[in-house]
Amino acid sequence: MSTKHSKRAAKFNRDTERVSRHDKTFWSVRQRRDSLAHNIPEWEDLREAANNIKKHTITHLADYLEMFEKAATENGAHVHWAKDAKEYNSIVIDIMHSHGVRKVVKSKSMLTEECHLNEHLEKEGIDVVETDLGERILQLMHLAPSHIVMPAIHITKEEVEECFEKKGVIRDAEPHISKAERDAAPPADPTYLTRCARYHLRDNFMTADCGMTGANFGVAETGDIVVCTNEGNADMSTSVPKLHIVSMGIEKLIPDYDSLAVFQRLLARHGTGQPTTVYTSHFRKPRPGGEMHIILVDNGRSDILANEGHWQTLKCMRCGACMNTCPVYRRSGGYSYTYFIPGPIGVNLGMLRDAGKHYHNCSACSLCCSCDNVCPVKVDLSSQIYRWRQDLDSMHHADKMKKTMSAGMRYVFERPSLYTTALRMAPWANHLPSFITNIKANTWAKGHSMPEFAKLSFHEMWKRGMVDNKKS
Ligand code: SF4
Ligand code: SF4
Repeated sequence: MSTKHSKRAAKFNRDTERVSRHDKTFWSVRQRRDSLAHNIPEWEDLREAANNIKKHTITHLADYLEMFEKAATENGAHVHWAKDAKEYNSIVIDIMHSHGVRKVVKSKSMLTEECHLNEHLEKEGIDVVETDLGERILQLMHLAPSHIVMPAIHITKEEVEECFEKKGVIRDAEPHISKAERDAAPPADPTYLTRCARYHLRDNFMTADCGMTGANFGVAETGDIVVCTNEGNADMSTSVPKLHIVSMGIEKLIPDYDSLAVFQRLLARHGTGQPTTVYTSHFRKPRPGGEMHIILVDNGRSDILANEGHWQTLKCMRCGACMNTCPVYRRSGGYSYTYFIPGPIGVNLGMLRDAGKHYHNCSACSLCCSCDNVCPVKVDLSSQIYRWRQDLDSMHHADKMKKTMSAGMRYVFERPSLYTTALRMAPWANHLPSFITNIKANTWAKGHSMPEFAKLSFHEMWKRGMVDNKKS
């Protein structure tokens, strides 16, 4: 049973300060993206190149997958294929069992969220430590990410401090930070809290038996895995443990290093408004004496590829720019969407995963098209949402109230004289008392003042020669 996006959004909207901060934070990231874009004259050419490379790779995926497997195997990595989440989880667990892994340090990977890997590892008695700071905060709070690039952006520094106190992160750091430094730190000081997290994580890096990373890109020609982070946690996760497991969705492949250069210029500029991520790590082969396993995961991607109306979602490189710009996401937060990936791309991916569970998310869109305009690989996000909405009726998921309203509007629009009469009468509604217009059924009135109808419609003004069409 799906919960309406609007209900979940209403819950998020109760905390007006949090909503305002959420909105402003993401809008500032969008603005940083714009100012970086304006400094690159070939910006639109880059987006077009990225779009073409992704289209080409996805439509020749079988060839590139084979090329990648061959190169990675020649480099000394073990390549595994997982058709779905179940197979993926069991491959990871088998590898870990065969190496006697008790603790794994993980850098951020949305694919592991998609496959619910952590739950499976914990059931096997394996201690899982997320090492991206935002992800670690959420793990300690037992919360899911609310954004794909900035997963804990909705959490305040005061909440982080409280969590670190409760979960022993501050205690772990005590031997490394002098009392004088601790006393000098203001309450909920982000620098102090980050230092605590660093010491807490460092202990975990040193004692882990396995490091897991995702993959921002897999380079087919060379078999390289490219991981972009701002915290260096992917490097720490793979520098201490001898066992490295990479989880990669099959759509993450790009042909070669020339292609990588295009995506590298776009990824961080779009995602966080930075010229580049602080670390761009290239993993080609196992460490001396170690093992590197790359798991290529399908989990529904082949079905998406075969979907004529929606295959272009596979171009997505998970930069998060469509979320940062989306007015609905910014004001309703990540948890208002039922799919684990929120925002414009999440609406589409959720429908592809399970339309019956996620169809309410299609309403979380004003069709402003801003997401299409910022996407670095030109995924046609709003057109796809529009198409899903058109399909809802045949899927038996159309909203009954909206259907009735649409039928009523159609009836009026198909009868010009009725339409004209209705327009003439509309200004009468301006005199209705608010207890009539602000009824529960009129959801528009929630949080809005009802707009006044103009005395004359535009059509009427045009007919009467009241519009200066030279100015318009
Ligand atoms: S759809 Fe485009 S903008 Fe959205 S996350 Fe994917 S690549 Fe980024
Ligand atoms: S078109 Fe819809 S999903 Fe895209 S930015 Fe606008 S409101 Fe958000």
